[in-house]
This record gives sequence, structure tokens and C-alpha cells, in this order.
Amino acid sequence: MNMIHVLDENTANKIAAGEVVERPSSIVKELVENSIDAQSLHIEVEIADGGTSFIRITDDGSGMSPEDAKLAILRHATSKIRLAEDLSTIHSLGFRGEALPSIAAVSRFSLTTRLHDNESLATYVEVAGGITTEVREAGGNVGTTIVVKDLFFNTPARKKFLKTVSTEGSHINDILVKLALSYPNIAFKLINNQRLVLSTPGNNQLQDTLTNLYGQKVAPDILPISYENTVDSIHISGYLGKPTLLKSSRQWQTIIVNSRVINSRSIAKALDNAYHSLLPKSGYPLAVLNITVNTNTIDVNVHPQKSEIKFSDEQKIFRAVYKAVTQVLSAAHTPSQLAASAELKNIHHSPQTPSYNGSPTRQSSLYTSSPIRNAAAWQEQALPLTTARTTMEQEEAIFWDTPPVTDPIGDDQQEPQFTLQPLGQVDDCYIISRGHDGLYIIDQHAAHERILYDKMSQQTDRITAQQLLVPIFMDCDATEITIIADYQDTFYNLGFNLDLVGPSTMRILELPSDIPLAEAENSIRQILEFIQNMHDPTPQELRHNCLQIAACRAAIKAGDALNMRQMQALISELCNTNLPYTCPHGRPAMIRFSSHDLDKMFKRTGF
Ligand code: ADP
Ligand code: MG
Repeated sequence: MNMIHVLDENTANKIAAGEVVERPSSIVKELVENSIDAQSLHIEVEIADGGTSFIRITDDGSGMSPEDAKLAILRHATSKIRLAEDLSTIHSLGFRGEALPSIAAVSRFSLTTRLHDNESLATYVEVAGGITTEVREAGGNVGTTIVVKDLFFNTPARKKFLKTVSTEGSHINDILVKLALSYPNIAFKLINNQRLVLSTPGNNQLQDTLTNLYGQKVAPDILPISYENTVDSIHISGYLGKPTLLKSSRQWQTIIVNSRVINSRSIAKALDNAYHSLLPKSGYPLAVLNITVNTNTIDVNVHPQKSEIKFSDEQKIFRAVYKAVTQVLSAAHTPSQLAASAELKNIHHSPQTPSYNGSPTRQSSLYTSSPIRNAAAWQEQALPLTTARTTMEQEEAIFWDTPPVTDPIGDDQQEPQFTLQPLGQVDDCYIISRGHDGLYIIDQHAAHERILYDKMSQQTDRITAQQLLVPIFMDCDATEITIIADYQDTFYNLGFNLDLVGPSTMRILELPSDIPLAEAENSIRQILEFIQNMHDPTPQELRHNCLQIAACRAAIKAGDALNMRQMQALISELCNTNLPYTCPHGRPAMIRFSSHDLDKMFKRTGF
């Protein structure tokens, strides 16, 4: 007796469903992709119980003829390709002809569809667990409506794998957000348990789509990206969140390649790397990357749910994304672009009268003429601050008369775009500044740290060092001595020249020129500690962290009084750094209260 037999169509469909229909969100993805392929301009998704009991997708796309409606639910029935070769030039999202039969095999499924011509009626097709139960003419709007009820009613084993309805619902929300971001020309709606939870305008403006999905409050914190590599025909557009707008997962990252939403580890990695020196350890930037490549350089048929694709040259894409993202983050910025926007939700409006009790503990630094402490190197090298000891009259002149400094570096190519005027310092820590579009508060330590980090990281050879007239001797334990011996070259490249002069003594001959003498020992100890705690850091990690430490140690501190000129110079330098949004640890360096925010806080406008 023969052992082998060909599976009947219904069984084959149920098996295929195992791959295509993993959960309710995969159904929504397949059906919405069909609606997109049918040139719809409005797509409405309604779900109940996280899509497990009810999903309805309504579109105003091309619709199907009665014959096509019956064919559509057959396995490998597609209008999108004819030959395997067509895959290399494909522009539609679907091509396998598997979705409808797979979904219909594991649910109670119905389809109502009508062409755009005025003559034909709609066709209604009903399938339960893979068996066609009804086909008839019906009334209905042009376009297609598909209803999927009781998912997995005939495959109880699969049903057990479903998560809670709220988890399944949020997966549907996620996938719809991404599809909506990839088609800003289509108006999407999601109704979850009779509540409208998502709606996009469909006006072909990605920015509007984005703010509709993520909230108006992200608008000031996103930057447009636009990159073209004509040699490799790679084009990238979309939006990136400022490094100050971090999310706890990759959920806010949408990667679109040739209009297809995909997951790609290498593109995500390129994003991470580009943000590297800006990000604190945990957190992911918001990103919508719309990438277009030649269709013949990708293979779209490598994943049953089409959520991954294969690039013929993955490295090229990686490099392009990395470059595109760093270009945006390091472009010339206006202060409002690089400031983190103020979080207004925690502001209380209770009237508060300033208290005049007690004696003022800090002297106002506005008119003080003392040079800043602990930052000798900064004054002399990074900034033209040698005239810091200005008299009070001069200070006043600067304060009242001088227009805001533009671009102190004097780069002829760059348009002066900087227009912040410092007004004073609060707590010897925050610089309050006036911009044409609001109020800016700058954290002087974070800002200076960023300036120094940038300056040092641009020195590809050795960090500029200062030779010590009198060497500093430092006591070290055995572990520290071993690390110093092992990493002597690394230390040297970072601007430290260290010399072991005894079993437990080390001599410092040279220091990075920005680090004040008083910080020498602490900086080295912190680097030693970092090396000790890291397992096998890569050279880049090592350098990034050591520069971070050095920049932090060398920077002016909270508590250092600054005069107006120093504040101005600091702000100008910050705006001219490569990646000015945050300090190297990822804290914001500058926060903006837009004029609108101020109006809101003083209740001059409605909320
Ligand atoms: P594929 O999308 O891979 O072609 P499907 O099983 O998803 O396979 O769909 C089968 C066919 O049904 C499609 O090729 C298309 O012609 C038709 N179809 C499906 N959904 C729609 C829709 N919403 N509007 C118009 N035609 C549709
Ligand atoms: Mg399809």
C-alpha cells in the first residue's frame, strides 16, 4: 500500500495558516496590505476582543468581480504576479496568494466586494473553517469588506497560544501605526471595542501622519531625514526623533523598504550606532526610515509573513542608513532644533509668591567678574575667554549692547544661524537665554561636556596633551598597576602619559590638555574602574567611555560662576558641536520653553 498521499486543499490551507496567521495582528496586516494593493484611499479596521472574536476591514479600493471574489479564496490565487521572475520587479505588498485561504481556513470568514463600475452588484462569499458555505449577489459599497470571526475556532491548540486580548489588541495597533506611516496618502482608522483609537489624515504628509499617531507633542522633537546615494540608488527619507526623545523599546521605530514595513536587525543596528554617543545606556530613538532601493537588489520572498527581506548587499544599506542618520544629527542646528522641549504636564499653576525670607546664599553671577573655577583649560583653549576678567562696566555693555554672537568659529561656509542671548545664570548651574522663539535653559556642565567630548573625539590620533612641569605621583593597587601596564597605549592615545615607577606607584607625566591638574588623579581612577568593570570592551567602547570621563572631568561644573561673555561663548560653541543635543551621557544639554509654552503656562491661551 502506498504511504504517501497529497493533502487535500483544506488541510494544506490550515497548515499554511500556521505560518501566515500567527495571531490576530497578522490577519490585520495581510488584509490591510491587500487593501493597500487595491489602491484604497480609506481603510477602516474594527476589532473586538483584541481581534480574537471579531475583525472587520473595510476599504474603498478596486473591489473584485464575482469571479475574482470566488478565486481569491483559493490557494495560490493571486492577481499580483504570474511568473516567479515577476518577484524581482514586484511593487505590490502581496504575491503569495496565501493570505485569504489561510485566514478563511481557521476562522469564520466573509468577504463582500464590489467593483467601481456602476452596473455590478456586490458579491458576498462566506467560508467557515475552510469550507465555502455561501456565495451570492449582495448590496454593498464599492470596495471590499472582510469580516473574520472566531479566530482558531477549529484549531483549539492554536487558540491556546494567543495572549490576553489587550496584548493582541496592542499588536494590532502597532502594525497599523507602521502601515499608516508607510502610506501617508491613505487615511487609516482603527476602532477597538467601539472606540476610535487611531486615525490618520491621509493627506500624504508624513509629518501630519506621525503627529496624529504619536501625538502633537512629538512635533518639536523630530527632525526630517533626506539622503540620496545615486551610485547605489539608495534613497532615504522620513523622520528621526531627537536624541532627547527616547523610548523604552523599538516599537517606535518603523523601517520601510520600497513601501514595505520590515524588521531588519542590521538597519536597527545602524540606527543605534549613529546615535551611540548621544544615547544613555537604555533607550531607543523614534525613527521612521523610508528607504528605496532598486527592486532587483532585494529578495522579498524570504519570510512567510513577508516581514523580513534579504538585501543583496546588506553592508551598503547599513552604511547608507548610518551615514544618513549621522548627517541629520550632526547638521547645523538652530537652538530650537536641538533643545529638548519642555515637559509641561508637571507644571503646577498654583500662584506662588517668591519668598524673600532668609539671606541670599549665592551671589548673582550676572555682574561678577571672577574667572570661572576649575576650568582653566576651557577658558584658554576652547574659547576666546582670556578677557574674562572684564570689569563690571564692560559686562554691562556686553549685556545690553552687543547683539547675540553668531558663529564664533568663523566658518565662512556656514550661515550664521545662532541667535541665543544669555540673560543670566541660576544656581551657578543653568544659563537662562533668550531666543527669537522662546526661553532656553542650558545646563552648563552638560553643555561644556558635550563641547569637550566632541572636540576630543574629532582628534583621531592622540588627544592633545599638556606636559606637567612637576609630575604627579599616584598610589595604585596591584590590579590598577596591571591595567595601567596592559592599557598603556590606550592611555597614551587618550592624552595620558603614565609611567610605573615602583611596585605600587605611578607617575603622571602628561594629561589631556583640557583636564585641570586637580582632576588628574580622579580621571585616571575613573577610567581604571571602567576598564575593570567592562568585559573586553571594544576599542570604540573604550575610547567613547574614556572620552566621556575625560570630558566630564574637564568640564565646568555646576557651581562655577560664569560671566556673560563666558555664557555666550559656551552657548555658541554648543550650537556648533557636531552632536549638540545631549551631554555624552545622554542628558539634555538645553531645554526650550517655546513662546507658546510660556503663553500656556501663564494661561494666556486655551489648552
Ligand atoms: P496576494 O495578496 O498574495 O495576492 P491574497 O490571498 O492576500 O494573496 O489575496 C488574493 C487576491 O485577492 C489578491 O491577489 C487580490 O487580487 C484579491 N484581493 C484580496 N483582497 C482584496 C481587496 N481588499 N481588494 C481587492 N482585491 C483583493
Ligand atoms: Mg495578500
